[in-house]
Amino acid sequence: MANIEDVDLIVIGSGQGGVPLAVDFAKAGKRVVLFERGRIGGTCVNFGCTPSKAFLAAAHNAGRARNAAPLGIHADVRVDGPAVMNRVRRVRDEWHDGSEKRVAGAGIDLIRASAAFVGERTVSGGGRTVRAPRVVIDTGTSPVVPPIAGIGDVPYFTNLTWFEQPAPPKRLVVIGGGYIGLELGQGARRLGSDVTIVHGAPRLMEREEPDASDVLRSSLEADGVRLELGATAESVTLAGATIVVTLKSGANIEADALLLATGRTPNTPDLALDASGIAVDARGFVRCDEHLQTSCPGVYALGDVAGQPAFTHVAWEDYRRLASTFAGTPRRRDDRVLSYTTFTEPQLARTGLTEADARAKGIAAESRTIQLGDVARGTEWNLEAGFMRLVVDGASDRIVGATFVGYEMGELIHTIGFAIELGATWHDLDRFVAIHPTFGEGLPSLARMFA
Ligand SMILES: Cc1cc2nc3c(=O)[nH]c(=O)nc-3n(C[C@H](O)[C@H](O)[C@H](O)COP(=O)(O)OP(=O)(O)OC[C@H]3O[C@@H](n4cnc5c(N)ncnc54)[C@H](O)[C@@H]3O)c2cc1C
Repeated sequence: MANIEDVDLIVIGSGQGGVPLAVDFAKAGKRVVLFERGRIGGTCVNFGCTPSKAFLAAAHNAGRARNAAPLGIHADVRVDGPAVMNRVRRVRDEWHDGSEKRVAGAGIDLIRASAAFVGERTVSGGGRTVRAPRVVIDTGTSPVVPPIAGIGDVPYFTNLTWFEQPAPPKRLVVIGGGYIGLELGQGARRLGSDVTIVHGAPRLMEREEPDASDVLRSSLEADGVRLELGATAESVTLAGATIVVTLKSGANIEADALLLATGRTPNTPDLALDASGIAVDARGFVRCDEHLQTSCPGVYALGDVAGQPAFTHVAWEDYRRLASTFAGTPRRRDDRVLSYTTFTEPQLARTGLTEADARAKGIAAESRTIQLGDVARGTEWNLEAGFMRLVVDGASDRIVGATFVGYEMGELIHTIGFAIELGATWHDLDRFVAIHPTFGEGLPSLARMFA
């Protein structure tokens, strides 16, 4: 084996948890090696959150302008596709450059290469072999390419390439009705593309509550997105420059572009995890204990690759937990209140447990729902699509979860996530005096529904 260098910390992957951990250690004077085989900053900055939200910023402004007709505003929306995509890449590159500077400025030994284990806590890549008492795997996930007949013979986008296109396509088929497919599909539609979303389940985002799926379905359809639900793409072919997607039903959909948004697979096959005795689950995610430690002592995993809910704030929170554990105060991975948002318009925002989840955990859960059409902000601003649902533990009256579907609900859901952290009950929410006329006014109204 090549010369082995001993260092204090090895991080594989410059994702959302790995970079801050490496920076903290390096700033504390430790020797840190960071392996990165792609762009510094990982998925979120380069291929995920940042470019997709910059894309949606343009799309939703166009959508809002068009949807203002009921208010008496008739906008003639002209989309400059190349300008939209140039801005998306500019915003992305600013964040990426910031990540590069952060790593360079911290004195981290950055090895721009793919890394693999060659022994216990020993990692090789880029012609170097390093060993450390602590190794952190932060290698994230990659898009799944589904086994559709002909997929190797047609051009397609995934999130890795979508933001490189000069302008949104004229006709687009999206395969996958999860949050990535819905955000990018609705975004493309609002920027002028003719969009069809093909989804295998009978409803969109089928892991969410049925009425939340229903609001998204009707909002997307109102935008002019065609939905093929309960449908399977059986084959794809190329007819000249046209991509033809054939469904199991026999229907053909013609498009200029195809976007695959059919799930994620962990970036573990290249890591030779066996060499360090690191176990993975049936899908290839790294198995970790409650402190994010793998089956090899001293080797930890965080973020998406650790089988965590795949969100940037989860990976970042893993970093905080791991940093605390490394500093001598162990923190668990499983005591957080999970919140997330799908940035369609309207948004689907969740925190804590749904009523069904809570009941499955043995909690005597109850929920109450208020429609946004019954909240002044909804009717006055013509933002009636959606609802707010609060879930409480009927035994203690404590708030355990919420689903808010509606305009910018990703902001308001934080109040409930915070309330859950504080152990608040619906009585606390009832006492709170909300501002009229905001969506927040719905919160004490919801609480009173439990009385
Ligand atoms: C289109 C899209 C939109 C999204 N929007 C949101 C959003 O709005 N909000 C949100 O919270 N989340 C969003 N996400 C999810 C979010 O991007 C991920 O949860 C987050 O990036 C996970 O971070 P991570 O640290 O686990 O890994 P990643 O950010 O994926 O980083 C892993 C890094 O490891 C590197 N790597 C992999 N294998 C090796 C190896 N063997 N050697 C060296 N380097 C390696 C990779 O190149 C990569 O840079 C979105 C994702 C996508 C795809």
